[in-house]
Amino acid sequence: MSRDISPDFLKSDTQTPFDSCLVCSKDVISSGEDYFIERIMRRVTDFGVTETLFEYAMCMDCASNMKGEMSKESMQSIEAFFKERIMSLDPFDRLINPLEKCLLTGKRIDESLEFSFHAHCRGTEMMESIFPYAVSDDAMDQISELLSKETLDELDEFKGKYFNGPPEIAELINPKRLLPI
Ligand SMILES: [Zn+2]
Repeated sequence: MSRDISPDFLKSDTQTPFDSCLVCSKDVISSGEDYFIERIMRRVTDFGVTETLFEYAMCMDCASNMKGEMSKESMQSIEAFFKERIMSLDPFDRLINPLEKCLLTGKRIDESLEFSFHAHCRGTEMMESIFPYAVSDDAMDQISELLSKETLDELDEFKGKYFNGPPEIAELINPKRLLPI
């Protein structure tokens, strides 16, 4: 099943679809291949607004390469963690709005200070499977306990290489968020 890419996964500045892979710059729409979109956000409680810290599309090839660079033990622990959590999901929770609650903990996203949205797309369509989903700050804390130092270093390096926004925003982005999940 698929549907048009929802506004949650359009570029926040132009409200248009992402068109190129963050890593290899491939045109993800005209290639017709599968790709992923991730948007990392935080809630600024004083102002009652959310702010996008980092958002990007990544082609399937680059996502697999990145997974390959992570330590095997980290990726295995994460996969096991995902499987276990997904088995215990209430499917009705996801029917109305899959981005309302964290896929992994069930925590409400509007009660999360930091969260991310993940989509799997093809062309200008968004695939509906376990995607799209949201990950809360609590889930990220739990995931980070499963990562090896090697993996954390890889993620830090990735952030240094591909994030080119202002340094004060870079500081706010937890490299653990960049895990290819
Ligand atoms: Zn790529």
